[in-house]
Amino acid sequence: MFYDELQKYDWDTTTQTILSKTSADVERALRNPRPGIDDFMALVSPAAAPYIEQMAALSRKLTLERFGKTISMYIPLYVSNACTNACVYCGFNHANPLTRITLTEEQVERECEAIKRLGPFENLLIVSGEFPALNGVNYLEKVLKIADRYFANLTIEVMPMKQADYERLIRSGLNGVVCFQETYHEQAYNKYHPRGMKSIFKWRVNGFDRMGAAGLHKIGMGVLIGLEDWRTDVVMMARHLQYLRRHYWRSRFSINFPRLCPAEGGYKPNVVMTDRELAQLTFAFRIFDRDVDISYSTREAPAFRANMMSLGVTSMSAGSKTDPGGYAVAQDSLAQFEVTDVRTPLQVASEIHSLGYEPVWKDWDRSFNIVQ
Ligand code: SF4
Repeated sequence: MFYDELQKYDWDTTTQTILSKTSADVERALRNPRPGIDDFMALVSPAAAPYIEQMAALSRKLTLERFGKTISMYIPLYVSNACTNACVYCGFNHANPLTRITLTEEQVERECEAIKRLGPFENLLIVSGEFPALNGVNYLEKVLKIADRYFANLTIEVMPMKQADYERLIRSGLNGVVCFQETYHEQAYNKYHPRGMKSIFKWRVNGFDRMGAAGLHKIGMGVLIGLEDWRTDVVMMARHLQYLRRHYWRSRFSINFPRLCPAEGGYKPNVVMTDRELAQLTFAFRIFDRDVDISYSTREAPAFRANMMSLGVTSMSAGSKTDPGGYAVAQDSLAQFEVTDVRTPLQVASEIHSLGYEPVWKDWDRSFNIVQ
């Protein structure tokens, strides 16, 4: 389990190693045809900032070789904002006195129909808070069975589960799971996640092993930028990705680096990452791992997403609503975070075309699903 592996790495030592990297280390990393963690540390370090143009060019070349001129399109479907956790940065925090909504089966159906009217989406990301009695495995199984009639590729971003639960949901059409570790800083983790199942660091970080063992086709990971030192967190995530690739080589992996947006409760990020730093991180990850899918959500602004499209990013959401019922049921409930790119999916697709890229709505078919 990765938790045991993580004990080998000290947070402060990792930070110091990153900060001690020099331009010679960066140049060596850029020349290395098989970059390792040490090279990745150099590429995310402050010493790499003057090399951003070279990093962009290499990232672009590697992305074109592996993915061509394509951007995979997906859309989130928020099904429930009920949550027993109290993440200090989230609008769905248990302590927020908002109306809790868990969509009925009929409402899920209406949302799926509304999404289909927005664009030819086949990749659906089903998102929910963590409230096992309301939106647990039984509920998700029903949601998946409905969504499976509309979309070819179903991914969930919900509470971490037992391996047997993932296996059960795979039988109902599940293809991928996204889970954000948020931060790998175990000592600081409970400052941000003070209660509920999410407060158990080990359960969350080992969830990726359970996903791999269940045979999920795609596993998505990420850290939340704005909590602890982002450079150290992404190096820990790169170690985690390397570990998962070694142990669960049949799965595909995606990464995402959401930057904290204002949420209900007014949480202010501890760390601010600039666009330039996010670009550096994106290039560094592409150079480190040529196969990983790099996803940008509608948290990012249109112009920045357009610039990054040819430089490393391979999948994007569009038209997103981050409140349950936001597409059709229109409950006017609280959104989890504010969307920055508010264009319609067809406007986003049109821009992708205009930049010489192909928006890919379907890159999986349910006939490929492995049912064990
Ligand atoms: S981030 Fe997720 S688990 Fe935490 S409060 Fe928000 S919905 Fe709940």
